[in-house]
Amino acid sequence: MKKRDLICISCPFGCRLHAEWSGTFEELKITGNRCPRGAAYADRELRNPARIVTAVVRSTSAEHPWLPVRTDRELPKPLIDALLNRLYRMRVEVPVSRGDILIENFENSSVNVIFSSTTTR
Ligand code: SF4
Repeated sequence: MKKRDLICISCPFGCRLHAEWSGTFEELKITGNRCPRGAAYADRELRNPARIVTAVVRSTSAEHPWLPVRTDRELPKPLIDALLNRLYRMRVEVPVSRGDILIENFENSSVNVIFSSTTTR
C-alpha cells in the first residue's frame, strides 16, 4: 500500500489530506477532506498533477523589458521546466495585447501561453 500526505489548495481551509492506494490508483482512498473538492484535488494531484504557470519574458522594449505571461490552463507538471526554459530564452517584439498567444499548443498539451498585459511600445 502506498501513502502520501497532501494539503488541499482548493480553498483557504487547507485541509490536510491523506491518500492511500495500491497498484495504479484503482483503490485510491482519500481522507481528511471536508468536502468533495478535496478528494477531487488529491485524485488529480496523484494521477495527473498540473499547474497554471506564470512567468515573464524578455522584450525588445526599453520601457517594458519584461512582459508577464501565463498558461491559459493548467500544464502537466512534467512539462513545466521545459516551458520555463523556453520562455527564459525568448525575446519578444512589442506591442502585445493581453490574451495574445505567445506559444500555441506547447508540446501538444493543448495549453497555450498568453500575454497577461497590454504593452503599446
Ligand atoms: S477539502 Fe474542501 S474544505 Fe478542505 S481545503 Fe479542500 S476545498 Fe477547502
